[in-house]
Amino acid sequence: MTAQILEPGAVLGVLGGGQLGALFAGAARRLGYRVAVWDPDRDAPAHQLAAYSFTAPFLDVETRERFSHTVQAVTYEWENIPADLCEWLELRHPVRPSASVLRIIQDRVQQKRFLETHNLPVAPFAVIESPDQLPHAIQAIGNPALCKTARAGYDGKGQWLIQDPGDADQVSRELHAGTRDGQRWILEQVVAFERELSVLVVSGLNGEYRTYPPVDNRHEHGILRLTLAPTSLSAEAAAHVSNLAVQAVSALNSPGVFCVEFFHTADGQLFINEIAPRPHNSGHYTLDAATVSQFEQQVRVLCGLPIGEVKLVRAAAMVNLIGDEVGAVTAGSGYSDLMAIPGAQLHLYGKRTIKAGRKMGHVTFLAEERSAAEERALWLMKQLSERSVSAHAGERVSVKKTEPRNV
Ligand code: AMP
Repeated sequence: MTAQILEPGAVLGVLGGGQLGALFAGAARRLGYRVAVWDPDRDAPAHQLAAYSFTAPFLDVETRERFSHTVQAVTYEWENIPADLCEWLELRHPVRPSASVLRIIQDRVQQKRFLETHNLPVAPFAVIESPDQLPHAIQAIGNPALCKTARAGYDGKGQWLIQDPGDADQVSRELHAGTRDGQRWILEQVVAFERELSVLVVSGLNGEYRTYPPVDNRHEHGILRLTLAPTSLSAEAAAHVSNLAVQAVSALNSPGVFCVEFFHTADGQLFINEIAPRPHNSGHYTLDAATVSQFEQQVRVLCGLPIGEVKLVRAAAMVNLIGDEVGAVTAGSGYSDLMAIPGAQLHLYGKRTIKAGRKMGHVTFLAEERSAAEERALWLMKQLSERSVSAHAGERVSVKKTEPRNV
């Protein structure tokens, strides 16, 4: 049986209205679809592009009914959307990726166990069911190690770095102080990686998988700073990374756009850090550098269309604009200097409030050679560090409460 194709004019629902939801909505509108955005934050950027906006909490059952009556298919832009809501919607509409995928991925413990069960490489980890188990977990995993909340962490939030066993008491106290019912954590060995990579995998309805070329990522303070496309790994090693990414996504067995993040060590070992069941920040370069962007692929898969081409047309370097850095490139000489650079593509997300650690936009530099794109990106990063006042979200070791979305 061939899946039903949604034609232009159909209403596509997206749960979550941050920049990923907004970029999805932009791609959908370009193809003639209307978009219904559900995000409790009225200021969430995607609402500005929505034909229908829903701003009640995700647990509001009356809104759930209205949303369901409005849309013909549903996707999400964030893995912390309630899986129960997706399950309920899935009884009425296609939800891509599926609610069962969301359930696995939104819990780090489930995700890691899932990957392990499918013989996919992950860093050694231990599950912590109560803060008292932390010292035992440190003994088992060694240090340095990262303790992460199983649920609701992102961009390095909800994480504690444990440098030596002496840190256990302090971190354990912080875990106790912030514990909610049923909460658990994962303790992961810190991987001494040489590089971080990610691979976007598009999983079609007909069992077809297509991957964009692997890219190199650099993070600062747990937040993506720079993506370089394509990776500088050898073609053979890059093919191996892509194969592992497809294996991981095919194990999930659902149509959708996925991003698989990897650590690569100097001796050639690969570990999967995590999988995102949606377009990813490290795939933003596809908006300008690939024939079809990751967001158009999300629309295509949701509508039952063939997967688009995943070809990199030019080399690219993407720099995130974080917190008040955005001011440095949108005002005065910083703005005209940036706009004068050949191949510089500025994307601003339209967020009303600037906050430390908040992703406000990004710049992609396009060039024939990756080295030229990288050089321009490094120039921008230098400008940002010189011009911005305080861009970062603080140190990892302190308690990091997960912030509400889109604030
Ligand atoms: P996460 O929120 O888990 O994706 O982590 C954000 C970033 O923190 C990663 O991209 C890495 O730079 C770093 N990180 C997370 N887990 C580890 C680990 N086990 N070993 C080394 N670095 C890590």
